[in-house]
Amino acid sequence: MRIDVDTERCVGAGQCVLSAPEVFDQDDHGIVMVLEDPADEPARDAVRQAGMVCPSQAITVKEG
Ligand code: SF4
Repeated sequence: MRIDVDTERCVGAGQCVLSAPEVFDQDDHGIVMVLEDPADEPARDAVRQAGMVCPSQAITVKEG
């Protein structure tokens, strides 16, 4: 799995952090940061969920 975040698109809504707190965090301006790759399948599912709930489509998840 490869995770790309577009910090220009991110509006700091924090939905990704709620969905996958091990993988996503927000900087001092509320902009998304990727902390680490998801460790297991539940964590990967959480990342997919984060990609779906992000209101600005700032998260791109590529499988494989
Ligand atoms: S959910 Fe989307 S807009 Fe909100 S902090 Fe995460 S990447 Fe940014």
